[in-house]
Amino acid sequence: MKYWLVAEAYEKIEQTSKRLEMTDYLVDLLKKTPKSAIEKVVYLTQGKLYPDFTGIEIGIAEKLAVKAVAKATGRSEAEIEEDLKNTGDLGETAQKFLEKKRQVTFFPQPLTVERVYETLDKIARASGPGSMDQKINLLAGLLADAKPKEAKYIIRTVTGSLRLGIADMTVLDALAIAYGGGKDSRVILERAYNVSSDLGKVAKNVVEAGIEGLKNFKVSLGEPIRPMAAERLSSPEEILEKLGGRCIAEYKYDGERIQIHKNGGDVILFSRRLENITNQYPDVVSLVRENVVPDKVIMEAECVAVNLETGELRPFQELMHRRRKHGIREAATEYPIALFLFDVLYVDGEDLTVQPYPVRHDVLKKIITRNDRVQIAKYIITDDPKELELFFEEAIENGCEGLVCKSLSESSVYQAGSRGWLWIKYKRDYKSEMTDTVDLVVVGAFHGRGKRAGTYGALLLSAYDAKNDVFPTVCKCGSGFTDEDLEKIPQMMEPYKIPHRHPRVQSKLEADVWFEPKIVLETIGAEITLSPVHTCAMNIIREESGLAIRFPRFTGRYRTDKSAEDATTVEEIIEMYKSQLKTTQT
Ligand code: ATP
Repeated sequence: MKYWLVAEAYEKIEQTSKRLEMTDYLVDLLKKTPKSAIEKVVYLTQGKLYPDFTGIEIGIAEKLAVKAVAKATGRSEAEIEEDLKNTGDLGETAQKFLEKKRQVTFFPQPLTVERVYETLDKIARASGPGSMDQKINLLAGLLADAKPKEAKYIIRTVTGSLRLGIADMTVLDALAIAYGGGKDSRVILERAYNVSSDLGKVAKNVVEAGIEGLKNFKVSLGEPIRPMAAERLSSPEEILEKLGGRCIAEYKYDGERIQIHKNGGDVILFSRRLENITNQYPDVVSLVRENVVPDKVIMEAECVAVNLETGELRPFQELMHRRRKHGIREAATEYPIALFLFDVLYVDGEDLTVQPYPVRHDVLKKIITRNDRVQIAKYIITDDPKELELFFEEAIENGCEGLVCKSLSESSVYQAGSRGWLWIKYKRDYKSEMTDTVDLVVVGAFHGRGKRAGTYGALLLSAYDAKNDVFPTVCKCGSGFTDEDLEKIPQMMEPYKIPHRHPRVQSKLEADVWFEPKIVLETIGAEITLSPVHTCAMNIIREESGLAIRFPRFTGRYRTDKSAEDATTVEEIIEMYKSQLKTTQT
């Protein structure tokens, strides 16, 4: 196929801003394209060589492209640079200089799509010493044989500035018209695209097998499925009504969404935007190899930073340490993660995206070995708005963003690539920020795990209720302790150890060790939230809820100058909650 046809189509597409006209030009081009070149033409019109998830980019720096244009046109780099200042578009500059050159030379062999594609592919793959020169030579060779207009588009393609404005959906429309018998067949093409994220592959399939053949298009390992997304509502009542009166509500973990593809020992991880992020999470790769039973699986999980000694979830920001090239292993040790699985889309050859969620959820429960670091997203199945609200508060207090409530109906398939009402997220519309520290009383402790085996993993802390002279709990705190603190605290608490909860302590939680309320620690958290678990201010702001400190951390200050009765009071916590309540729409 002549590249000239592609360049001409680009020119027309570029000159219109109407989507329908754009689609018509694209339909024309696709109809003129032979079967064997359809994939290449589809990728090229999007300025690509492969689907995004492969991570292969043409990307040549403009400076390099200038050298190639100079070489191909017989001009100096300075001349090219000078003209570029005026045009602002190296494509146009290349076109101009080639036009001048062509007046004195005669046209060489016409360029084919195949040659353009293969040369660009070589440019993209060239690496190592000498690769810069190799790229310049390859590009200059192509330009030397190109017509001026072709050169313009080749340059724009390699420098990543093709920008024809053709959206994925326009390509699907054009394919439906050109090869699917009309626009109505787009849904079938769209489904194929949603489960493969690969427009070239979809195009090739429809050209070869027709729209009927495409109906059997299946999920494939190694090709990311476009993610399903949630709608949003702001009350448990509305959510239950929308989901037919009953739903499965899961914690909405605050981490990074990861689509896991396991093929034997090979594990690939894709981000929400379907980039390959396997290198950022070597620990996830090992966890998947060790704890996911079937050989071939595609599943989805939220990857969350955790404190392995206490099991506490950590804020999303801790995952930012993974966004780097070097030192990933160190970051993985310092900021460990856990996986909370929430869907399974494929197991050993079976496409599960067409199955309702209860079926997928059952499969999910069976195929993993659960442990501290690999779990199923915590869930309840309920038809009670009150229960939903309390589960929501619990999720927030435990470091989550809220809940994702999911349909249990027969039609609750995995809607790849779309935001629909089968999933409804329930997040807060406010956030109360904690700016001040509080002084809390140690009333209990929990045994530590891992590095903290033999000492305490977390402490149960209380505020002081002066009116009733009791100590209601307000958080479980496992962060901010140095190794020295961890050694010192058990010794310090030893004299106050008692075999059961102290009568002045109000707690719904069952601690491993109880103490007399004596020792006061300075603590700060991210915010104060409603909590069904902690007894501080129980039933005061809302029925059946107390107040808790989210993401609590010991500041390092032992308030030896304070007695337990000098600790921050329940009234103060209520005031802090109220005054810090800012209305911020999230
Ligand atoms: P948001 O900023 O609210 O996460 P979003 O557009 O990225 O918005 P949505 O589809 O609206 O995503 O909300 C679902 C997101 O919540 C998922 O992308 C996923 O990362 C995260 N998540 C956490 N826990 C779950 C869960 N149990 N089920 C589904 N998604 C979950």
